[in-house]
Amino acid sequence: MMDVVLATGNRKKIEEIKKIFAVMGTASKIYTLDDFPAVEEVEEDGDTFEANALKKARHIARATGMTAVADDSGLEVEALNGAPGVYSARYAGDDADDKANNEKLLGALKDVPEEKRGAQFVCCIALVSSEEEETFMGYVKGRIGSEPKGAGGFGYDPLFYPEGSKRTFAEMSDTEKNAISHRANALGKLQQYLLTKRGYIRGF
Ligand code: IMP
Repeated sequence: MMDVVLATGNRKKIEEIKKIFAVMGTASKIYTLDDFPAVEEVEEDGDTFEANALKKARHIARATGMTAVADDSGLEVEALNGAPGVYSARYAGDDADDKANNEKLLGALKDVPEEKRGAQFVCCIALVSSEEEETFMGYVKGRIGSEPKGAGGFGYDPLFYPEGSKRTFAEMSDTEKNAISHRANALGKLQQYLLTKRGYIRGF
């Protein structure tokens, strides 16, 4: 068993990551930045999900002396050449909330027909400790709807229909979303790494 600090302040992501760890049977003690109030967050100024996730995880690993797991994620829309991408959280401006971001996205896709509204969520999970630095990418493909649907999840969930689904992520239960999400996909790779590299069968 190993102690892990989650280097994210986003409550929804913390909940999702904790649930996914629990489903996977990982027995670690999981801390969050709330447990380290003196540690400041770093600015996410990288050009890629990987650069941002690594920057966050390195910073927290150094500041706490523990193994840090950081997540950087976002939405890439085909018709917008991959935007909002790494800027997903602040697409509609620095202080933008989810609603403003969703409205901006719908506006940008106003004249784009259904068959051209392909998109994917991307997640990079970085694991940094004093001995290692690893990144794991996760994806889920889908398309952007024409109006928000559902009250679950967060971010762009009310607009995102995963491939083959008639419901958005926001219309699904946490369990359903977590079974197919980009974050679950990346965390699955992290777990595979921990199982093979570190040789732990259960927990890490
Ligand atoms: P980050 O905190 O820099 O990783 O920003 C991620 C942003 O991407 C969030 O604020 C959301 O707008 C969007 N995002 C990432 N993951 C999800 C998800 O699972 N559902 C909906 N939106 C997401």
